[in-house]
Amino acid sequence: MADVSSTIRAEVRSLAPYNAGLTLEEVRTRYQVDRIAKLGSNENPLGPSPRLRKLFADIGDLARLYPDPQGRALCAEIAGHFGVGTGQVILGNGSEDLIAVVCRSVVRPGDTVATLYPSFPLHEDYATLMGGIVERVTVRDDLEINLDALVAAARRKPRILMFSNPMNPVGSWLSPAGLKTVIEALDDETLLVVDEAYAEYAAGEDYPSAVDLLGETGANWVVLRTFSKAYGLAGLRIGYGIASGADLCSFFDRARTPFNTNAIAQASAIVALADEGHLRLSVEHAIGERERVRETLESSGYRVAPSKCNFLFFDARGNSTAVAEELLKRGVIVKPWKQPGFDAFIRASIGSAEENDHFLAALEAIRAGR
Ligand SMILES: *Cc1c(COP(=O)(O)O)cnc(C)c1O
Repeated sequence: MADVSSTIRAEVRSLAPYNAGLTLEEVRTRYQVDRIAKLGSNENPLGPSPRLRKLFADIGDLARLYPDPQGRALCAEIAGHFGVGTGQVILGNGSEDLIAVVCRSVVRPGDTVATLYPSFPLHEDYATLMGGIVERVTVRDDLEINLDALVAAARRKPRILMFSNPMNPVGSWLSPAGLKTVIEALDDETLLVVDEAYAEYAAGEDYPSAVDLLGETGANWVVLRTFSKAYGLAGLRIGYGIASGADLCSFFDRARTPFNTNAIAQASAIVALADEGHLRLSVEHAIGERERVRETLESSGYRVAPSKCNFLFFDARGNSTAVAEELLKRGVIVKPWKQPGFDAFIRASIGSAEENDHFLAALEAIRAGR
Protein backbone atom coordinates (compact mmCIF):
# COMPACT_ATOMS: atom_id res chain seq x y z
CA MET A 1 0.00 0.00 0.00
CA ALA A 2 1.22 3.50 -0.77
CA ASP A 3 2.61 5.49 2.13
CA VAL A 4 -0.09 8.05 2.78
CA SER A 5 2.33 10.54 4.34
CA SER A 6 3.85 11.24 0.91
CA THR A 7 0.41 12.49 -0.14
CA ILE A 8 0.44 15.06 2.64
CA ARG A 9 2.25 18.39 2.30
CA ALA A 10 5.49 18.69 4.23
CA GLU A 11 4.10 21.76 6.08
CA VAL A 12 1.22 19.68 7.44
CA ARG A 13 3.51 16.81 8.42
CA SER A 14 5.76 19.22 10.32
CA LEU A 15 3.00 20.40 12.67
CA ALA A 16 2.51 19.02 16.17
CA PRO A 17 -1.11 18.05 16.90
CA TYR A 18 -2.98 20.82 18.71
CA ASN A 19 -2.86 20.17 22.44
CA ALA A 20 -6.52 20.80 23.24
CA GLY A 21 -6.43 19.17 26.67
CA LEU A 22 -8.78 16.55 28.07
CA THR A 23 -12.56 16.77 28.29
CA LEU A 24 -14.42 16.31 31.58
CA GLU A 25 -15.62 12.89 30.39
CA GLU A 26 -12.09 11.71 29.51
CA VAL A 27 -10.77 12.74 32.92
CA ARG A 28 -13.70 11.10 34.71
CA THR A 29 -13.21 7.74 33.03
CA ARG A 30 -9.41 7.71 32.84
CA TYR A 31 -8.72 8.89 36.42
CA GLN A 32 -11.88 7.72 38.23
CA VAL A 33 -12.50 11.10 39.85
CA ASP A 34 -15.94 12.69 40.09
CA ARG A 35 -15.10 16.22 41.21
CA ILE A 36 -13.12 18.00 38.51
CA ALA A 37 -11.64 21.49 38.28
CA LYS A 38 -11.37 22.21 34.55
CA LEU A 39 -8.62 24.85 34.40
CA GLY A 40 -6.91 24.02 31.13
CA SER A 41 -8.77 26.08 28.52
CA ASN A 42 -9.49 29.52 30.03
CA GLU A 43 -13.28 29.07 29.97
CA ASN A 44 -15.56 31.36 32.02
CA PRO A 45 -16.76 29.56 35.18
CA LEU A 46 -19.86 31.79 35.28
CA GLY A 47 -20.91 30.60 31.82
CA PRO A 48 -22.79 32.78 29.33
CA SER A 49 -25.29 35.54 30.06
CA PRO A 50 -28.41 34.03 31.68
CA ARG A 51 -30.36 35.86 28.96
CA LEU A 52 -29.26 33.13 26.53
CA ARG A 53 -31.48 30.55 28.19
CA LYS A 54 -34.59 32.31 26.91
CA LEU A 55 -33.30 32.59 23.38
CA PHE A 56 -33.91 29.20 21.86
CA ALA A 57 -37.43 28.27 22.92
CA ASP A 58 -38.30 28.05 19.24
CA ILE A 59 -35.21 26.83 17.49
CA GLY A 60 -37.11 25.84 14.31
CA ASP A 61 -36.02 28.26 11.59
CA LEU A 62 -32.70 29.04 13.23
CA ALA A 63 -31.76 25.42 12.68
CA ARG A 64 -33.59 24.89 9.39
CA LEU A 65 -32.30 27.85 7.38
CA TYR A 66 -28.78 28.69 6.32
CA PRO A 67 -27.36 31.46 8.46
CA ASP A 68 -26.58 34.93 7.12
CA PRO A 69 -23.16 34.27 5.57
CA GLN A 70 -21.97 37.74 6.64
CA GLY A 71 -23.65 37.67 10.04
CA ARG A 72 -24.76 41.23 9.33
CA ALA A 73 -26.85 41.74 12.47
CA LEU A 74 -23.95 40.75 14.73
CA CYS A 75 -21.39 42.69 12.66
CA ALA A 76 -23.54 45.81 13.02
CA GLU A 77 -23.65 45.41 16.82
CA ILE A 78 -19.88 44.91 16.98
CA ALA A 79 -19.26 47.87 14.68
CA GLY A 80 -21.44 50.05 16.92
CA HIS A 81 -19.65 48.82 20.02
CA PHE A 82 -16.23 49.82 18.62
CA GLY A 83 -17.27 52.81 16.55
CA VAL A 84 -16.02 51.33 13.26
CA GLY A 85 -17.73 50.66 9.93
CA THR A 86 -19.76 47.45 9.57
CA GLY A 87 -17.57 46.51 6.59
CA GLN A 88 -14.53 46.45 8.87
CA VAL A 89 -15.93 43.51 10.87
CA ILE A 90 -15.54 39.85 9.91
CA LEU A 91 -16.86 36.84 11.83
CA GLY A 92 -15.05 33.59 12.43
CA ASN A 93 -15.89 30.12 13.69
CA GLY A 94 -13.95 31.10 16.78
CA SER A 95 -11.18 33.62 16.32
CA GLU A 96 -8.88 30.70 15.52
CA ASP A 97 -10.77 30.40 12.23
CA LEU A 98 -9.75 33.98 11.44
CA ILE A 99 -6.08 33.29 12.23
CA ALA A 100 -6.28 30.62 9.51
CA VAL A 101 -8.14 32.94 7.11
CA VAL A 102 -5.57 35.71 7.56
CA CYS A 103 -2.62 33.37 7.00
CA ARG A 104 -4.33 31.76 4.00
CA SER A 105 -4.91 35.20 2.49
CA VAL A 106 -1.50 36.72 3.15
CA VAL A 107 1.37 34.27 3.72
CA ARG A 108 3.41 33.16 0.69
CA PRO A 109 6.00 30.36 0.92
CA GLY A 110 9.15 31.72 2.54
CA ASP A 111 7.44 34.74 4.15
CA THR A 112 8.33 35.64 7.71
CA VAL A 113 5.63 35.67 10.35
CA ALA A 114 6.93 37.17 13.58
CA THR A 115 5.26 36.38 16.89
CA LEU A 116 5.85 36.44 20.64
CA TYR A 117 7.29 33.41 22.39
CA PRO A 118 6.21 31.32 24.24
CA SER A 119 3.49 31.48 21.64
CA PHE A 120 -0.14 30.75 21.10
CA PRO A 121 0.51 27.66 18.94
CA LEU A 122 -2.04 28.53 16.25
CA HIS A 123 -0.23 31.79 15.46
CA GLU A 124 2.72 29.64 14.43
CA ASP A 125 0.86 26.66 12.97
CA TYR A 126 -1.25 28.44 10.37
CA ALA A 127 1.78 30.44 9.26
CA THR A 128 3.80 27.23 8.92
CA LEU A 129 0.95 25.57 7.06
CA MET A 130 1.15 28.24 4.36
CA GLY A 131 4.89 27.80 3.98
CA GLY A 132 5.78 30.76 6.19
CA ILE A 133 8.83 30.95 8.42
CA VAL A 134 8.10 31.73 12.06
CA GLU A 135 10.29 34.19 13.90
CA ARG A 136 9.93 34.10 17.68
CA VAL A 137 10.37 37.08 19.99
CA THR A 138 11.00 35.54 23.40
CA VAL A 139 9.77 37.21 26.59
CA ARG A 140 12.35 38.69 28.96
CA ASP A 141 13.63 36.80 32.00
CA ASP A 142 11.01 38.57 34.13
CA LEU A 143 8.34 37.21 31.71
CA GLU A 144 7.41 40.68 30.45
CA ILE A 145 7.18 41.26 26.70
CA ASN A 146 10.55 42.25 25.27
CA LEU A 147 9.53 45.52 23.60
CA ASP A 148 12.95 46.27 22.09
CA ALA A 149 13.11 42.85 20.47
CA LEU A 150 9.53 43.16 19.22
CA VAL A 151 10.27 46.55 17.67
CA ALA A 152 13.42 45.11 16.06
CA ALA A 153 11.33 42.26 14.62
CA ALA A 154 8.85 44.80 13.21
CA ARG A 155 11.73 46.73 11.58
CA ARG A 156 12.82 43.56 9.76
CA LYS A 157 9.54 43.90 7.79
CA PRO A 158 7.86 40.54 8.37
CA ARG A 159 4.87 39.74 6.14
CA ILE A 160 2.80 39.46 9.31
CA LEU A 161 3.51 40.56 12.86
CA MET A 162 0.99 38.56 14.91
CA PHE A 163 0.79 38.28 18.66
CA SER A 164 -1.72 38.18 21.46
CA ASN A 165 -2.06 41.16 23.83
CA PRO A 166 -2.36 40.41 26.66
CA MET A 167 -0.36 37.41 25.66
CA ASN A 168 -1.35 33.78 25.97
CA PRO A 169 0.20 31.72 27.60
CA VAL A 170 2.12 34.18 29.79
CA GLY A 171 -0.49 36.84 30.65
CA SER A 172 1.80 39.87 30.29
CA TRP A 173 0.87 42.79 28.03
CA LEU A 174 1.99 45.82 26.07
CA SER A 175 1.12 49.20 27.56
CA PRO A 176 -0.41 51.87 25.27
CA ALA A 177 3.03 53.47 24.84
CA GLY A 178 4.59 50.08 24.05
CA LEU A 179 2.00 49.25 21.42
CA LYS A 180 2.44 52.70 19.87
CA THR A 181 6.17 52.09 19.55
CA VAL A 182 5.51 48.81 17.76
CA ILE A 183 3.01 50.46 15.40
CA GLU A 184 5.52 53.21 14.55
CA ALA A 185 8.12 50.59 13.63
CA LEU A 186 5.83 48.83 11.15
CA ASP A 187 6.58 48.74 7.46
CA ASP A 188 3.75 49.51 5.01
CA GLU A 189 4.02 45.97 3.67
CA THR A 190 3.55 44.31 7.06
CA LEU A 191 0.12 43.25 8.28
CA LEU A 192 -0.22 43.69 12.05
CA VAL A 193 -2.51 41.13 13.72
CA VAL A 194 -3.25 41.79 17.39
CA ASP A 195 -5.09 38.88 18.97
CA GLU A 196 -7.11 40.36 21.85
CA ALA A 197 -8.77 37.17 23.12
CA TYR A 198 -8.37 38.45 26.72
CA ALA A 199 -8.97 42.17 26.20
CA GLU A 200 -12.16 42.23 28.27
CA TYR A 201 -10.17 41.13 31.32
CA ALA A 202 -7.40 43.62 30.67
CA ALA A 203 -9.44 46.73 29.84
CA GLY A 204 -8.33 49.80 31.75
CA GLU A 205 -5.82 52.62 31.74
CA ASP A 206 -2.70 50.51 31.38
CA TYR A 207 -4.09 48.45 28.53
CA PRO A 208 -4.67 49.91 25.10
CA SER A 209 -7.56 48.99 22.87
CA ALA A 210 -5.60 48.37 19.69
CA VAL A 211 -8.67 49.36 17.67
CA ASP A 212 -8.46 52.90 19.12
CA LEU A 213 -4.68 53.18 18.77
CA LEU A 214 -4.54 51.77 15.25
CA GLY A 215 -7.57 53.62 13.92
CA GLU A 216 -6.09 56.31 11.70
CA THR A 217 -2.45 55.20 11.59
CA GLY A 218 -2.55 54.19 7.93
CA ALA A 219 -1.20 50.74 8.84
CA ASN A 220 -2.78 47.51 7.64
CA TRP A 221 -4.11 45.75 10.70
CA VAL A 222 -6.54 43.23 12.10
CA VAL A 223 -7.61 43.00 15.73
CA LEU A 224 -9.05 39.61 16.73
CA ARG A 225 -11.58 39.17 19.52
CA THR A 226 -13.61 36.22 20.74
CA PHE A 227 -16.81 35.34 22.56
CA SER A 228 -15.11 32.20 23.94
CA LYS A 229 -13.46 33.68 26.98
CA ALA A 230 -15.07 36.54 28.97
CA TYR A 231 -18.46 36.06 27.26
CA GLY A 232 -18.57 32.36 28.12
CA LEU A 233 -19.50 31.01 24.65
CA ALA A 234 -16.52 28.74 23.91
CA GLY A 235 -18.77 25.84 22.89
CA LEU A 236 -20.58 27.89 20.23
CA ARG A 237 -17.44 28.85 18.28
CA ILE A 238 -17.77 32.52 17.48
CA GLY A 239 -15.12 35.20 17.24
CA TYR A 240 -14.55 38.31 15.15
CA GLY A 241 -11.97 40.47 13.55
CA ILE A 242 -11.91 44.23 13.10
CA ALA A 243 -9.73 45.29 10.19
CA SER A 244 -8.20 48.57 9.07
CA GLY A 245 -10.46 48.67 6.03
CA ALA A 246 -13.48 47.08 4.38
CA ASP A 247 -11.28 46.16 1.40
CA LEU A 248 -9.15 43.92 3.63
CA CYS A 249 -12.26 42.26 5.06
CA SER A 250 -13.68 41.56 1.64
CA PHE A 251 -10.48 39.77 0.63
CA PHE A 252 -10.60 37.73 3.85
CA ASP A 253 -14.23 36.89 3.01
CA ARG A 254 -13.05 35.12 -0.13
CA ALA A 255 -10.61 32.98 1.83
CA ARG A 256 -13.10 31.69 4.40
CA THR A 257 -15.88 29.14 4.02
CA PRO A 258 -19.09 31.01 3.14
CA PHE A 259 -21.15 29.88 6.17
CA ASN A 260 -18.33 29.75 8.69
CA THR A 261 -20.43 30.91 11.63
CA ASN A 262 -23.76 29.33 12.52
CA ALA A 263 -27.10 30.99 13.23
CA ILE A 264 -27.25 29.96 16.90
CA ALA A 265 -23.80 31.36 17.58
CA GLN A 266 -24.60 34.64 15.78
CA ALA A 267 -27.85 35.13 17.71
CA SER A 268 -26.21 34.21 21.03
CA ALA A 269 -23.32 36.61 20.50
CA ILE A 270 -25.70 39.53 19.94
CA VAL A 271 -27.36 38.83 23.29
CA ALA A 272 -24.04 38.24 25.06
CA LEU A 273 -22.53 41.48 23.75
CA ALA A 274 -25.51 43.47 25.05
CA ASP A 275 -25.34 42.03 28.59
CA GLU A 276 -22.67 44.30 30.00
CA GLY A 277 -23.64 43.46 33.57
CA HIS A 278 -22.80 39.80 33.07
CA LEU A 279 -19.50 40.66 31.41
CA ARG A 280 -18.60 42.89 34.37
CA LEU A 281 -19.45 40.11 36.83
CA SER A 282 -17.34 37.62 34.88
CA VAL A 283 -14.36 39.95 34.72
CA GLU A 284 -14.58 40.98 38.39
CA HIS A 285 -14.79 37.36 39.45
CA ALA A 286 -11.76 36.40 37.33
CA ILE A 287 -9.61 39.28 38.58
CA GLY A 288 -10.52 38.81 42.24
CA GLU A 289 -9.88 35.07 42.15
CA ARG A 290 -6.73 35.49 40.05
CA GLU A 291 -5.13 37.70 42.66
CA ARG A 292 -6.16 35.32 45.45
CA VAL A 293 -4.66 32.33 43.58
CA ARG A 294 -1.54 34.37 42.80
CA GLU A 295 -0.97 35.23 46.48
CA THR A 296 -1.31 31.60 47.50
CA LEU A 297 1.07 30.41 44.78
CA GLU A 298 3.62 33.09 45.59
CA SER A 299 3.45 32.41 49.31
CA SER A 300 4.29 28.78 48.48
CA GLY A 301 7.36 30.06 46.66
CA TYR A 302 6.21 29.72 43.05
CA ARG A 303 7.29 32.31 40.51
CA VAL A 304 4.16 33.62 38.79
CA ALA A 305 4.12 35.72 35.60
CA PRO A 306 2.34 39.10 35.49
CA SER A 307 -1.19 38.59 34.17
CA LYS A 308 -4.10 40.67 32.94
CA CYS A 309 -5.89 37.47 31.84
CA ASN A 310 -8.14 34.81 33.36
CA PHE A 311 -5.16 32.51 33.86
CA LEU A 312 -1.78 32.41 35.58
CA PHE A 313 1.48 31.09 34.14
CA PHE A 314 3.85 29.84 36.81
CA ASP A 315 7.08 27.93 37.14
CA ALA A 316 6.18 24.49 38.50
CA ARG A 317 9.88 23.88 39.15
CA GLY A 318 10.57 20.68 37.29
CA ASN A 319 8.76 18.71 34.68
CA SER A 320 5.40 20.44 34.27
CA THR A 321 3.93 17.50 32.35
CA ALA A 322 4.62 15.22 35.32
CA VAL A 323 3.09 17.74 37.75
CA ALA A 324 0.05 18.11 35.48
CA GLU A 325 -0.35 14.33 35.42
CA GLU A 326 -0.34 14.28 39.26
CA LEU A 327 -2.93 17.05 39.22
CA LEU A 328 -5.12 15.02 36.83
CA LYS A 329 -5.08 12.09 39.26
CA ARG A 330 -6.55 14.53 41.79
CA GLY A 331 -9.20 15.78 39.34
CA VAL A 332 -7.52 19.00 38.23
CA ILE A 333 -7.01 19.85 34.55
CA VAL A 334 -4.34 22.48 33.78
CA LYS A 335 -2.11 23.09 30.77
CA PRO A 336 1.54 22.08 31.14
CA TRP A 337 3.50 24.17 28.65
CA LYS A 338 5.62 22.10 26.27
CA GLN A 339 7.54 24.62 24.21
CA PRO A 340 11.34 24.55 24.63
CA GLY A 341 12.59 26.86 27.37
CA PHE A 342 9.17 26.99 29.07
CA ASP A 343 8.46 23.33 29.76
CA ALA A 344 8.70 23.86 33.52
CA PHE A 345 5.66 26.18 33.35
CA ILE A 346 2.00 25.48 33.90
CA ARG A 347 -0.87 27.64 32.72
CA ALA A 348 -3.82 27.41 35.11
CA SER A 349 -7.14 29.04 34.27
CA ILE A 350 -9.07 30.93 36.93
CA GLY A 351 -12.23 28.91 37.61
CA SER A 352 -14.90 29.14 40.29
CA ALA A 353 -13.66 29.74 43.84
CA GLU A 354 -14.27 26.05 44.53
CA GLU A 355 -12.28 24.93 41.49
CA ASN A 356 -9.41 27.23 42.39
CA ASP A 357 -9.32 25.87 45.95
CA HIS A 358 -9.38 22.33 44.55
CA PHE A 359 -6.38 23.20 42.34
CA LEU A 360 -4.41 24.89 45.14
CA ALA A 361 -5.04 22.03 47.58
CA ALA A 362 -4.01 19.42 45.00
CA LEU A 363 -0.83 21.33 44.13
CA GLU A 364 0.04 21.66 47.81
CA ALA A 365 -0.54 17.92 48.35
CA ILE A 366 1.82 17.10 45.45
CA ARG A 367 4.43 19.51 46.81
CA ALA A 368 4.22 17.92 50.26
CA GLY A 369 4.54 14.45 48.71
CA ARG A 370 1.05 13.39 49.80
C1 LIG B 1 -8.52 31.20 23.28
C2 LIG B 1 -7.73 31.95 22.30
C3 LIG B 1 -8.16 32.08 20.98
C4 LIG B 1 -9.23 31.21 20.40
O1 LIG B 1 -10.44 31.64 20.61
P1 LIG B 1 -11.65 31.01 19.81
O2 LIG B 1 -12.45 32.21 19.50
O3 LIG B 1 -12.29 30.07 20.77
O4 LIG B 1 -11.17 30.32 18.58
C5 LIG B 1 -7.45 32.86 20.10
N1 LIG B 1 -6.33 33.47 20.50
C6 LIG B 1 -5.87 33.35 21.74
C7 LIG B 1 -4.60 34.03 22.11
C8 LIG B 1 -6.54 32.57 22.67
O5 LIG B 1 -6.06 32.40 23.89
